[in-house]
Amino acid sequence: MEFVKNQIVTLTIEDIGTNGEGVGRVDGFTLFVKDSVIGDKIEAKIIKLKKHYGYARVEKIIEPGKDRVEPLCPVASRCGGCAIQHMSYEKQLEWKFNKVKNCLERIGGLEQIEEKMEPIYGMKEPYYYRNKAQFPVGTDKNGKMITGFYAGRTHSIIETTHCYIQAEINEKILDIVMQYCRRNQISAYDEKTGKGVLRHILTRVGFQTGEIMVCLIINANKKKMKNLQELVDELCQISGMTSITLNVNRERTNRILGDRIISVWGQDYITDYIGNVKYQISPLSFYQVNPKQTEVLYGKALEYADLSGEETVWDLYCGIGTISLFLAQKAKKVYGVEIVSQAIDDARQNAKINGFDNVEFFVGKAEEVLPREYEKNGVYADVIVVDPPRKGCDATLLDTIVEMAPKKVVYVSCDPATLARDVKILGEKGYQVEKVSVVDQFGHTVHVETVVGLQRKDT
Ligand code: SAH
Repeated sequence: MEFVKNQIVTLTIEDIGTNGEGVGRVDGFTLFVKDSVIGDKIEAKIIKLKKHYGYARVEKIIEPGKDRVEPLCPVASRCGGCAIQHMSYEKQLEWKFNKVKNCLERIGGLEQIEEKMEPIYGMKEPYYYRNKAQFPVGTDKNGKMITGFYAGRTHSIIETTHCYIQAEINEKILDIVMQYCRRNQISAYDEKTGKGVLRHILTRVGFQTGEIMVCLIINANKKKMKNLQELVDELCQISGMTSITLNVNRERTNRILGDRIISVWGQDYITDYIGNVKYQISPLSFYQVNPKQTEVLYGKALEYADLSGEETVWDLYCGIGTISLFLAQKAKKVYGVEIVSQAIDDARQNAKINGFDNVEFFVGKAEEVLPREYEKNGVYADVIVVDPPRKGCDATLLDTIVEMAPKKVVYVSCDPATLARDVKILGEKGYQVEKVSVVDQFGHTVHVETVVGLQRKDT
């Protein structure tokens, strides 16, 4: 069948695409339909055609999918943050579990993998779970300063101060900052002209400690923030306020933070815990955004590593050493490798404040550091943990891992497709999947985390 633009078609949504849009087929031709959920029977208007697929918009819901729900958030469909709030949380979890399962079967070539998969670990409360928010500041049509979130794919700001997946205290913080700026005529930054002062409002909350951080990112020097003490006095009324800072970013870039932090009130960092491990978090540090589920995820990594206290463990792609320190509680020695040097500074600092003397960190690419240390210094591993970015592990790294022949490999992944690709390679070289767990760290988004425990076949 030939399709044309603006044609109305009827279809049933069968899956969710990488950006959260519903996916369905008409006569075998794939259409991506925004704001639809699995099970919806809809009339849709084709808005864009490519050779092998197209995009369409919902015209009429003929029969809503049984898992369609009314989103809590009134701006859910316009905001670029939550992609699948229209889908019941149970269905989101089922979809994420199946996504991992399908990747492991189809790309990983693993038959009957479901037998090795634990039930998905979902959130008890899939709202207000994020500990970090970066709200862009701008101006509406009438020249009023506003804040909120970017709409999907653009930088136009959807005004909102209440976000259902962020810490609830943000609403109060945003109100205070907005009122202070309006009162003191502090302007919003304008991306188009590069003029204006306030760019972003960054907040972080330690969910275990209750400590709160506010950092205002400005395109100016501190003097432009007139009567700053007024703002400080009001923010300090919030219980838990620990750190107020400014960050200067004068570059015309999409990067949110500049390099320089100016102390305004309190300390320049907050502290929080994942499990029993304490972390110092500055505005510039990377830190997991959902610490509760991170504890579940790393708990699984630790369980699959099956440590007795005698092991030497490598944690590759270690970031600020979150997993390394988790493992250090049960291992003889842990080595961490990470490409970003500031992250390693944080990792070393975190090791120190927790009193771990059995961890050592390297700055560099995992695929360079591990082969070098293995060939030159003959390093050894009982267990190797990897937690790579979306593109997965480098082939050289997988080769070195296999040569080092650790008893166990624990693979933590934010992308099931590259995970499955790498697990297949490891499988061909002697590593067998023992257990899989899927953990939802990011409810209402399409992202999902997986931990796979692999064992060397001859052990
Ligand atoms: N395990 C950490 C971070 C995982 S995110 C945590 O749980 O917090 C992946 C990390 O890999 C990022 O910190 C990124 O900077 C780092 N990275 C990316 N490419 C890398 C490479 N080739 N070698 C080492 N680290 C790398």
